[in-house]
Amino acid sequence: LSSEVTLCIYNATILTMDPNSTIIDNGYVKVCGDTIADVGTGCPTLHDGAVCLDAQKGLLLPGLINCHTHVPMTLFRGLADDLPLMDWLTHYIFPVEKKMDEDFVKVGALLGCAEMILSGTTTFCDMYLFEEQVAEAARESGMRCLVGEVLYDFPSPNYGQLDEGFRYTEKMIQKWQNDPLVSVAVEPHSVFTCSPELLEKAADLASRYGVPLITHLAETKDEIHQVVEKYGKRPVKHLRALGLLNENLIADHCVHLETEELDLLYANGVRVVHNPESNMKLASGIAPVPEMLERGIAVGIGTDGCASNNDLDMFTEMDTTAKLHKVSRMNPTSMDALTVLKAATVQGAKVLGLERIVGSIEKGKKADFIVVDTHKPHLTPMYNPYSHIVYAAKGSDVRHTIINGKLVMEDRNLLTLNLPEILTRAKHKAQLVRGWVGKGS
Ligand SMILES: [Zn+2]
Repeated sequence: LSSEVTLCIYNATILTMDPNSTIIDNGYVKVCGDTIADVGTGCPTLHDGAVCLDAQKGLLLPGLINCHTHVPMTLFRGLADDLPLMDWLTHYIFPVEKKMDEDFVKVGALLGCAEMILSGTTTFCDMYLFEEQVAEAARESGMRCLVGEVLYDFPSPNYGQLDEGFRYTEKMIQKWQNDPLVSVAVEPHSVFTCSPELLEKAADLASRYGVPLITHLAETKDEIHQVVEKYGKRPVKHLRALGLLNENLIADHCVHLETEELDLLYANGVRVVHNPESNMKLASGIAPVPEMLERGIAVGIGTDGCASNNDLDMFTEMDTTAKLHKVSRMNPTSMDALTVLKAATVQGAKVLGLERIVGSIEKGKKADFIVVDTHKPHLTPMYNPYSHIVYAAKGSDVRHTIINGKLVMEDRNLLTLNLPEILTRAKHKAQLVRGWVGKGS
């Protein structure tokens, strides 16, 4: 087996994020193809033909998992800030999204993939329009992802009428079924933009193919009021009444939950994605994440789209996660660094149903990991690596990114994407956006 080693990284402090949270000093990781073949300490025997990298005592950890985003919204970054969610969606985001086409989404997705690889994210979960383009961008960039076309009651700029949306989703599921990196989910937008019939049909499609059902849930107070008014129930109970509250559901946000709803999410095995920066920026509220973790609910972290964050950097998202819950309950021991890093790695993998293949540095898992350069003023000295990763490091400190055994960034150079070309194309698309907004659409 040793003769098949294709990649070896050594001289690293390895944060394995295994069940014992083992840290290996002076460690190495050997990769065979797409899989971690060996994790050890000391100087490994080197192999002819294998790529060998000296981590220079940097931190080697699992690639970060962005559990909820709308990647192509990179092209709307900073377009409309400082607005309430409903206003922001209906007056800015939905109108510009009506003008988009496949190429627009492709460029936004490539830009997002570049940003994510450069900031140490190796897996993302996406919901957007023209999602086939996001899947293609992920494939080109070598990223792992779970993606799905957004479904809602109104006609879509991509597929038109809803029936076509279901057909589009089903075709995507079939097309990517055996892909090593891209998986597809069924993604109705939310309980306030999707009829009960849509939600039930989406759940049927998801269970027919054994793929996750993903939706925004209980994000704002407005949503709670709308759903109570329309269906006589709060969103969580509305989903339960429809039979959708189960272990196949990944619920994004979950900001406004009563105690009973938290219990329901746990009892029904619902997985949750926390998006603190988006929730703060849109003043949606503070999700009761410590209460979720106390119950044993699997919680991952997401950046949400770039228009409400405004970046895809999971390092700053971890930092925000750790601090938000401390100040919200005036308790500095809430959400410690290790807990937060777990949410961005092993727990994130669990939320996306990928816990058997990624999320930790363990023999047999897929080789998705990053090396963080610690030879920097803001990372020196180092007493506690978890503290450094969550509170001090930034995405720009990531030096190497490896996904599925492949080096996709080496010494901060993207190896799979042509960054200058992507930036030029993105600027060109921004000119279109300026025109769309200027016309007062
Ligand atoms: Zn979202």
